[in-house]
Amino acid sequence: MKSPRRMLLAASLLFLLPAPTPCSSAPRAPSGPQLSHGHACLGCVLIVSIVEQLTQVHNSTIREEMERLCSFLPEKLFLKSICYLAAEMFGPDVIKLLSLKMNADVVCHALHFCKQEPGQPLCHLYSPPQGGLKRALSRARKSIGHSPLRTSAGDVSGICSLPALAKICQKIEYILNTSLPWEDADGDKHSAFPTWRGFYWRGRDCDDRNRDVHPGRRPENWDAQQDSNCNGIWGTDPKDGIPYEKKFCEGSEAKGLIVMGDSAAAHFHIPPEWLTAAHMSAQTFSNLPMALSNELDWPQLSGMTGFLNSASRSPDLSVYLRLRQRNRCNHRDYQNISRNGASSGNLLKFLGSLSRNQLLDHPAIVVYTMLGNDVCNGKSDTESAMSTPEALRAHVLEALALLDSRLPRGSHVVLYGLADGRFLWDTLHARLHPLGQLNRDVTYEQLYAFLSCLQVNPCQGWMNANETLRTLTSRRAAQLSNVLEEIAASEKFANLSLLYLDYPLKEISEEWQRRGGETWQLIEPSDGFHPSEAAAQLTARFFWDKVLRRWPRVLGKENPFNAQIERLFGDQGGH
Ligand code: CA
Ligand code: CA
Repeated sequence: MKSPRRMLLAASLLFLLPAPTPCSSAPRAPSGPQLSHGHACLGCVLIVSIVEQLTQVHNSTIREEMERLCSFLPEKLFLKSICYLAAEMFGPDVIKLLSLKMNADVVCHALHFCKQEPGQPLCHLYSPPQGGLKRALSRARKSIGHSPLRTSAGDVSGICSLPALAKICQKIEYILNTSLPWEDADGDKHSAFPTWRGFYWRGRDCDDRNRDVHPGRRPENWDAQQDSNCNGIWGTDPKDGIPYEKKFCEGSEAKGLIVMGDSAAAHFHIPPEWLTAAHMSAQTFSNLPMALSNELDWPQLSGMTGFLNSASRSPDLSVYLRLRQRNRCNHRDYQNISRNGASSGNLLKFLGSLSRNQLLDHPAIVVYTMLGNDVCNGKSDTESAMSTPEALRAHVLEALALLDSRLPRGSHVVLYGLADGRFLWDTLHARLHPLGQLNRDVTYEQLYAFLSCLQVNPCQGWMNANETLRTLTSRRAAQLSNVLEEIAASEKFANLSLLYLDYPLKEISEEWQRRGGETWQLIEPSDGFHPSEAAAQLTARFFWDKVLRRWPRVLGKENPFNAQIERLFGDQGGH
């Protein structure tokens, strides 16, 4: 069983609580959420808090609210069953502890989801109860006694060994292991299904039985017979016998967009509604299975490769949609190969998932965008785990050499600088986290400290009360950006040209305020770390404007036949 799937299985068993490791320790493989004791503890504290808050909102019992929460979860991926099972297993203890007015921290320590490591403090999200956390905990343990089930509860990897869960684990494992017909039938890495790295990530395959047919290829025989590049343009004009693809797309400088980035580029997002007891309903979790099968990323709404409308979408288009608007022959030619936790250090491990044929396909614009993972990690000695300028340089050059061997001539690589994450603390630390809104008891400062204590803080350097450390992290980020800028200015490749752009944090923030927005809205509310959809959309706008102004040839010409293509082919088969 592949590791991301095992992680997913473990995640489902934790009632699908997010493993928010968007940005994580630099050198590890970005293979999806990496679950640890810290995540088990975090998941437990979130769920128990939500149950507790539901009882306040509905003025009812803990048992009723556990049932209500489970009833809200969808059946897909066994979410509802797992929830009921968990309620059965842990419910009686949770009920006992919550009715003794213990808070979620105490409950989760008592149930062993949270563990105190030797020499480490007791981690807590909420202010400690009167008399201290230790005393409350020993009272809690006394009141529920000892059970072997509980001691293994925090052990995520061992959770399937629990007799009660073994059957469900087997079932899920079977489903995940059976070859998934929807993944990618012909191995060209494009798929006709949205999730599991399907067309939410790269253009939809219009023939999933033929690897020579996929978005981005140069058309075979001008697509007179069939649409070999899935851009919706094919057939022959009956008036003159000329294939439409030749008429409308020849010499149009068609090209695709490939994004290799981190969780920000894939648009990592945990809807705050999932954490807000006040308005929870079955509707709240309807998108949970989809989000889980996309690693909690929403590339279909991302600033780079997004193509769907969301409720909150601002009028700005993604870079892909702008490229498509400029030349409709580019329809469906996008790939988002970004990973949660990606950095220069682990980029080479997933670069192989790129799909581009040097001989058959159109050139591409590749955007390298790693906003923070080279300086962000959860280690207590965070500085020693940051990428050095030398290491970043070596890794990026290696990746570029590989791209040069894979991409068609005339491709471009845009290297994005790192963000200055001091903005996170400055904007959020005193604000309330969604979980703290009901009782005004959880600020981002508390959340960051809790994540640090659990060693799952996605960015110890920036999500931290220590100003000296935040400044040091920004200084390293600036050094690394300089290296990228220097590479773009000095290195030459046969098939690629290199460009560099600073991450436009200041411009985004000014533009957002000009539109009447507030700075905190530019950050994901649930994790207090990632750029929000609004920020991603503005990033796309500034990306486009800058490239168009400074290097218009990168984007290709505006296609004079766009209106005719639209008239004849409509939405070109959609996305
Ligand atoms: Ca295909
Ligand atoms: Ca075509």
